Amino acid sequence: MHVVNANDVWKTIKRKTILRGASLTVGEGQVYVLAGPNGAGKTTLIRILMGLISMDSGRIEVLGCKPGDPDWDKVKLDIGYLPEDASPYDRLTGWENLRFYAELYSQGDPSKVEEYLENAAAISGLTREELSRRAGGYSRGMKRRLLIAATLMHNPRLVVMDEPTSGLDVFAAYRVKRTIRSMAGKGYTFLITTHDMSEAQELATHIGFIESGRIIFQGTVEDALSAYSAESLEEAFVRAVGDGRS
Ligand code: ADP
Ligand code: MG
Repeated sequence: MHVVNANDVWKTIKRKTILRGASLTVGEGQVYVLAGPNGAGKTTLIRILMGLISMDSGRIEVLGCKPGDPDWDKVKLDIGYLPEDASPYDRLTGWENLRFYAELYSQGDPSKVEEYLENAAAISGLTREELSRRAGGYSRGMKRRLLIAATLMHNPRLVVMDEPTSGLDVFAAYRVKRTIRSMAGKGYTFLITTHDMSEAQELATHIGFIESGRIIFQGTVEDALSAYSAESLEEAFVRAVGDGRS
């Protein structure tokens, strides 16, 4: 079974066609990086997959369920989702922020809340003292680490992160990538977006190139390099777009 399957997804917002038949498939254990320039439609596709906005046409399935189906609320508990514009509650402490998510995911099982909180604290790399402070005083990198920990605390079957390193300095971005790699090593399935091809190359097992609302290539990183006789994903992407335009 595929973890994520999107087939021929179309979406027009305010007369602008943003997705033009986008299709992608994420298999279990993959780190699938959806890579393409700003405005290509990455966030729109992710929001559709997360059931936050509707599509005009197409077929999607996430963990065997269509967003909005009766089972969707249950399936959502198996997903960790970091939205592009996510930020913690500034007036809550790190712990309180994490507890908010832990209670959501544990569905009223108090022993799970504690387990998830411990997981999250370890994943965040924040000290107990830092977690006791209000998130409003955190650096951007600390805020992102807190949210990423919240995304992963409940051992989700699918982790979706929309531009997890954007706006971070080099050290903070490095830590986030290290966390993703370490979780990927434990067998988690990721769907990650980025506009940064070198980041895609660092993280991906599988890659989808998105350009103007279409997935113009999908496959393993090695497939992408050999399909375009490229040394890097950046070069492969430029050639893929060139092929599409010529
Ligand atoms: P990406 O995440 O790849 O940068 P997005 O999916 O955010 O791309 O956006 C794709 C295009 O659709 C952009 O040109 C963006 O301005 C436009 N767009 C997305 N959402 C809306 C919206 N709610 N209203 C108007 N335009 C939108
Ligand atoms: Mg985006």
